[in-house]
Amino acid sequence: MTAAGPGTVYLVGAGPGDPELLTLKAAHLLATADVVLHDDLVPAAVLAHAAHALVINVGKRCGRKNISQEQIHAMMIEEARHGLAVIRLKSGDPLVFGRAGEEMDALRAAGIPFEVVPGITAAFAAAAALGRPLTDRRGASSVSFSAGHHAPGSQLEPASLAGATRVIYMPGRDLLPVAEQLRAEGLPGELPCVIVSRAAQPDQQIVRTTLAQLERIASLPAPSILLAGEVLREADDNQLTGIAESVTVSPTNQPQPVQAE
Ligand code: SAH
Repeated sequence: MTAAGPGTVYLVGAGPGDPELLTLKAAHLLATADVVLHDDLVPAAVLAHAAHALVINVGKRCGRKNISQEQIHAMMIEEARHGLAVIRLKSGDPLVFGRAGEEMDALRAAGIPFEVVPGITAAFAAAAALGRPLTDRRGASSVSFSAGHHAPGSQLEPASLAGATRVIYMPGRDLLPVAEQLRAEGLPGELPCVIVSRAAQPDQQIVRTTLAQLERIASLPAPSILLAGEVLREADDNQLTGIAESVTVSPTNQPQPVQAE
């Protein structure tokens, strides 16, 4: 069992929300940490592992509204310098979006030892919910992870991604800009698109549509992720309009349809 060491910062992935999808290493570190600095998307059931730690929400949405990235760096450095075992807990995988690069640069510059503990990223939770391999060789030769159009400082690159399954994090409430960008890349209107809202959580929802219809999909509860690609095509895809499928996540994490709206 890994115990959190003094004066060290651990960048830990909390997984997509189901506490059973936390790694054992993450659970052990949480159980032995002194301080946990976490993002908004980390659920209470995961934080419950941090039985002895001071738990601070440094998320930018419902946490401390004005906390800057630099303040987060300063908190991590100060706590580690005081000899505390610090966990920087991020949803999904800690290195997929979410500014971990800047945080590690700050720790390096301050001479603070750190370790990264990977987690299950939202793309993989969404693929599991759909029961679709993102790399199914019959429909894709690669996978791309990108940030939605609205994300500050990021844009979808019109790269040559023919044959790639696209996974778009932070797609935004209004899907029109993302739809326009994908169309500008020359992707066909009938390309299957799926939005998975709150993947691996009890209120997970799946909406299947096509690129041509994407912008008509009303926003779903956050967080949600958009997938686009041939690997998502189903036999009845020519009938698609955007049907929400609510699913529950059973204890074995196998989603089971409970209703169709
Ligand atoms: N590090 C995280 C991503 C952080 S960016 C990871 O690896 O998953 C935040 C975005 O991740 C959200 O806007 C959403 O697009 C996606 N996301 C995170 N958790 C999700 C979930 N349970 N279901 C769907 N999307 C999720």
